[in-house]
Amino acid sequence: MATAVDTAVVGAGLIGLATAHALCRDGQGRVALFDRGLPGSGDSGRSFSMVRRHYSNPVTARLAMAGTRTIVDWSDEVGAGDSGYVRCGYLLAVPERLVEACRGNIEMLRGLGLDTRFLGPDEIAEAEPLLALDGIAGAAYEPDGGFADAQKMCTGWFAVASSRGLEAHLGTSVLITVIRNPVQLAKTLASLDQLSNGRLIVGVGVGGAHVPEAVFGVASVIYVVCPPTVAAIHRFSHLTRLLQREEMTNLPIQVILNRFTSNRFGDISVAQFEKSIGRDVRHKIPNDYALISASQNQGKAAVLMEPKSKFSVALSDMLRSDLGTESARGVPKRRSFLGIGY
Ligand SMILES: Cc1cc2nc3c(=O)[nH]c(=O)nc-3n(C[C@H](O)[C@H](O)[C@H](O)COP(=O)(O)OP(=O)(O)OC[C@H]3O[C@@H](n4cnc5c(N)ncnc54)[C@H](O)[C@@H]3O)c2cc1C
Repeated sequence: MATAVDTAVVGAGLIGLATAHALCRDGQGRVALFDRGLPGSGDSGRSFSMVRRHYSNPVTARLAMAGTRTIVDWSDEVGAGDSGYVRCGYLLAVPERLVEACRGNIEMLRGLGLDTRFLGPDEIAEAEPLLALDGIAGAAYEPDGGFADAQKMCTGWFAVASSRGLEAHLGTSVLITVIRNPVQLAKTLASLDQLSNGRLIVGVGVGGAHVPEAVFGVASVIYVVCPPTVAAIHRFSHLTRLLQREEMTNLPIQVILNRFTSNRFGDISVAQFEKSIGRDVRHKIPNDYALISASQNQGKAAVLMEPKSKFSVALSDMLRSDLGTESARGVPKRRSFLGIGY
């Protein structure tokens, strides 16, 4: 079955539902939501939903401050259900050696407008008499911190988005196809379509730099994230082709090697990579967290690269001939991704 929507959101957790809710609220066309389970059946349903804004990264802190406003003002912002917010305060206790860092964070957070302060041991005992103070030299305290109920939030967002036209496909798994062998994939899809009596949904979407650009500003750096698996080799060949495309040639490149890799992309060394793309690689950052903070702190886009390639063309052709879908047409203008649900 071919399907066409303006946005397909995969995952009915806090992130997917907040996104789907916002798109439906703002009238951003047809929105479909896919989840292999039910709303909140992933991490969101397991979260103990602590509400805090004490982060050392200012961007994360600002995001947490904005998110907390939604949690606290739930009825005004969402209008159905409730977030389960309980204002009991949040305390982050530290030993002597972290006092200075803790005070520094507090200063930074106060500069962002957060109501937070440093408490010495006596004041901690006053705020929470049951806390043992062994080894504790002080604490960051947020009076508005507390906890919420992430499952309730998921249900509320889902209900409101559904009332505004969200097309929910629950019990529907989505495959990322770009690293799969096109022949195998086409066979699997044809079989699935038969076995599920036509429940297979083939959706092809445009992805690429415009999404992070809208969030972070102009994409000024290409981040290459390298997993340690055989998929890295496939990714490498996609990347090489992408980086040779004209519009990308002026962008600097940062190669992010995750914590499992040292200086290789699968079987290919970074030196070979540099040679094949004909440019220097700027930085090598050692873990995934560094990717996120590099992207956030520098306000630069982390670009996910799933370029049009021989692979996606071959796959599109096979989907067209085997399944009679037209959904793969017209994608190549931008970097594209393929998402397949069943
Ligand atoms: C035990 C625990 C405690 C936590 N405590 C806190 C806390 O106190 N405070 C806090 O802020 N955060 C906490 N977190 C973190 C927080 O819960 C997560 O950051 C948040 O729920 C992530 O939301 P999400 O929407 O990104 O992911 P998820 O809620 O995991 O949603 C992802 C959804 O995608 C679906 N999905 C995945 N793959 C596919 C596929 N291939 N096809 C279709 N659907 C798919 C899953 O079924 C799932 O519903 C906690 C997490 C855990 C596990």
